[in-house]
Amino acid sequence: MGIVKTVAAAIRSRKSAASEVARLERLVASWEDDAERTTTELAALEASASAVVHAEDPRAAAREAAGKAMELRFLIDGARAAAETSRLQLRDAREELALAQAAEKRQEAAKLTAEADELQGKVDELLRQLTELDGATYVPEPALDYEDRLDVMARDGRYTYPTRPRSDVLRDEASALLAEAEQMERPVVEERRDRAEREAPVVPSASISVPKWDDIDGMSQVSCSVSNGTGSATFEVFLGAAGNEVVTLPDAQGRRTWARRVKLQAGGGSAVIRCNGQVLAEEHRPGTLMNDGVARWWVDATRCPGCRQLAPVTKRAPSPTSKRTDGAVLAIACQRGCEIRSRDLAAQGQR
Ligand SMILES: [Zn+2]
Repeated sequence: MGIVKTVAAAIRSRKSAASEVARLERLVASWEDDAERTTTELAALEASASAVVHAEDPRAAAREAAGKAMELRFLIDGARAAAETSRLQLRDAREELALAQAAEKRQEAAKLTAEADELQGKVDELLRQLTELDGATYVPEPALDYEDRLDVMARDGRYTYPTRPRSDVLRDEASALLAEAEQMERPVVEERRDRAEREAPVVPSASISVPKWDDIDGMSQVSCSVSNGTGSATFEVFLGAAGNEVVTLPDAQGRRTWARRVKLQAGGGSAVIRCNGQVLAEEHRPGTLMNDGVARWWVDATRCPGCRQLAPVTKRAPSPTSKRTDGAVLAIACQRGCEIRSRDLAAQGQR
């Protein structure tokens, strides 16, 4: 049977993963012992340093002791580094062991499912023959509901559960094994994903969100952030009249996000965020802040070709010469409600 063979293979690989874990545990312990023993030896040597004055040739004795101490420090560093490397290998080996144990459970589950399928096939064939022979449909007796069981207990003094079909029992065992396998794999998968995220270089990102065109008192949100990972990123934030900033993330407090609220829209305005010479976000708002003595209003306006009143521009073509949105007016929102066709706007040309 193919499946039995794969269960055996799963057991073999689980056993070899387990013996690798045991080997690395011994290795880590032996490097740690080495480091500790040599540290003790060095401490003893240093404690006896003053004894060199009693030596026949103190100068030579001091030189010898210094050479020995240097050698011991070298050995301690080496042993500590080796222990650290082995600890990392041990961590990986323990994860591999957990995955191998999970794989073994999956194989066992597959074997039980195959048994259940085989059994089911035989039972279905027998049921088919029974139905053909007897005309009735035969089904396993289901267990009664709780209420009905109570009735039977009251009547007969006891209730005997009907025997469950063996294929159902096998399938339950298989799904329990699969759940266990899932539980073993999940922490390993999550830990590896977190580790990959931590060890990857940071990815910088930035955004600028601006209020709607008619919200002249709203603030724009300018923000930069870096992903989880190692290293840092420096952002150059240009905020026009609001001043410029240089932001390095993570900052001294370990924060990975920086944000500032500024008025970008009053009088038009712009913001650009660069990192490593690359523009991550930029926003340019055309126009001027209008003030009629009663109210202030936004900003990018043109005369409505219908009523000749100032109307806010709601859409402009991108400018061919710069990134600023000072291209041709494509749409306006006339405050008097004129229906404006784009042809009329085009005929009017630019402001
Ligand atoms: Zn109008």
